[in-house]
Amino acid sequence: MASRDPVADLRRIAFLLERANEATYRVKAFRSAAAAVAKLPAEELAERAEAGTLAKLPGVGEVTARCVTESLTGEEPVYLRRITATEGTDLPAAAQALRSALRGDCHVHSDWSDGGSPIEEMALAAADLGHEYFVLTDHSPRLTVAHGLTADRLRRQLDHVAKLNEALPEGFRILTGIEVDILDDGSLDQEDELLARLDVVVGSVHNKLRDEPARMTRRMVNALANPHLDILGHMTGRKVSAKGEGDAAHRTGRTRPPSTFDLEKVLAAAVEHGKAIEINSRPDRLDPPKRMLTVAVEAGCLFSIDTDAHAPGQLDWLGYGCERAALCDVPPDRVVNTWTADRLVEWTRSHA
Ligand SMILES: [Zn+2]
Ligand SMILES: [Zn+2]
Repeated sequence: MASRDPVADLRRIAFLLERANEATYRVKAFRSAAAAVAKLPAEELAERAEAGTLAKLPGVGEVTARCVTESLTGEEPVYLRRITATEGTDLPAAAQALRSALRGDCHVHSDWSDGGSPIEEMALAAADLGHEYFVLTDHSPRLTVAHGLTADRLRRQLDHVAKLNEALPEGFRILTGIEVDILDDGSLDQEDELLARLDVVVGSVHNKLRDEPARMTRRMVNALANPHLDILGHMTGRKVSAKGEGDAAHRTGRTRPPSTFDLEKVLAAAVEHGKAIEINSRPDRLDPPKRMLTVAVEAGCLFSIDTDAHAPGQLDWLGYGCERAALCDVPPDRVVNTWTADRLVEWTRSHA
């Protein structure tokens, strides 16, 4: 039997574990093993597999060493076969149709803020999933717990992304963006000049989530009126318990009720200014709840079905958002990430 690519197998396992929201340390074991093995010349790898000394390499353990040995013999690693056998069930037809219509993802984090992987790794995973683009939306300065980017770091990130885009596979492109904190008065936590340069701006409330409804409403309405904001992220801030252990920043099991505000007023502001409401796909967020999503459909809002991915495997969570969107009859042509990257950017530029 011809040998398989052990690095690809290890990375595939990491991706599938992440998608299943397994504990970070488990995912990391496979990613570090992949990195360690990728550095070895093929001959040394074969010798070590033969001699049984793979697990002596830094970053490689007993389990990952066994996977590599199996790959080299041309056999699908047992570990990989086991996860693929228990993969999630297919989406219902309407959700599947919506999922197929999506061309990208407007909310993605990297290790520049609180994500776990470099931008290029997120981009390659997204291209593998068939995305045409994603918007890189690392956090803004005020969110220090998430290593929010200062204006200087964001400027550096923009230069970096421009270079990456030249080297990425044909047909995939990183759009520039930010998940900017919506401050107490509804203003945005980044310099105007920078916000104006970005392709897409997602704005989210991350603090004082229990504020009184009138103040929260004003805060959200002001943010939606800001010409730089394009998409309102996870609008209620709720956390629901989801299966799996998740990552430290978004640990599941800790729940949080939705914040309270005047939904009609907020949605009316979104419609008036032509902004999109995010349908956040994270299993620990599922935000907004279905009852609010139904009201938003009737109000005539635009939507963006996003993953808020903090790791490559999470990029495949779009299906969760599509399921809820389909249940609430969200029309596909009102979902901005069914649009091409050019049309998306044309829309964001239309309100500055
Ligand atoms: Zn985050
Ligand atoms: Zn957020």
